[in-house]
Amino acid sequence: MRKKIVAGNWKMNKNAEQTTELLNELIAQVSAEASAEVIVAPTFVNLALAVSQLKSTNISVAAQNMHQAQNGAYTGEISGDMLTNIGVNTVILGHSERRAIFNENDALIANKVDAALSHDMTVIFCFGEELKDRQSGNHFNIVENQLRDGLFHIEAKNWEKIVLAYEPVWAIGTGETASPEQAQEMHEFIRETVRKAFGSDIAEDVSILYGGSVKPDNAKEIFSKPDVDGGLIGGAALSAKDFLAIVNAI
Ligand code: PGA
Repeated sequence: MRKKIVAGNWKMNKNAEQTTELLNELIAQVSAEASAEVIVAPTFVNLALAVSQLKSTNISVAAQNMHQAQNGAYTGEISGDMLTNIGVNTVILGHSERRAIFNENDALIANKVDAALSHDMTVIFCFGEELKDRQSGNHFNIVENQLRDGLFHIEAKNWEKIVLAYEPVWAIGTGETASPEQAQEMHEFIRETVRKAFGSDIAEDVSILYGGSVKPDNAKEIFSKPDVDGGLIGGAALSAKDFLAIVNAI
């Protein structure tokens, strides 16, 4: 039941024209038999375009963030209602850039998770330690706390809507990746942490993606680890050739 997933987080890249171009390349080449579910997350302004372009393909669309309120006086924000209304049913929450640059903490992310679930959206829940945490040997604690404080308040039945994305901050956009062994060690710990809190069925079924400088030349080895169920890809998702190579590495 555990799904293999490769998701591309485009961050603040690609205008409308470039979005259309990249999507066309992906549509032409993601085969119907791709062994992973493929998701792309363009910027907010290009989501409607992406949904329409990807209609009747096997590629789905995610938002990179959303606000926790239903609607109201929140200048510049986007709600779950607005996303699902245009056909976006998946959202990335808790990305380390949201945490670090936009001051999102676990409590806020927990509220966003609730808002997304209330719209029946799938949540790609991101978390991961900073370099100083790994250097001080505190990485397992940090990861456990992020899971507990941002996610573990949900009801068991909602786990079918959750995808976990472990992204060590020191590996994001740095060209430095966790070794396949480091990734496996942490993914195994994450699954065990879910098992302790929610039981074996949920722990076995949840997909745990690795993110942080996944590239065509390291994807296969990382994805070969038993607890790594795919990847959340940043930089390499901006090139159709690289992203497809990563999809095909599953
Ligand atoms: P990266 O980004 O692949 O460029 O390291 C990953 C992410 O931020 O999700």
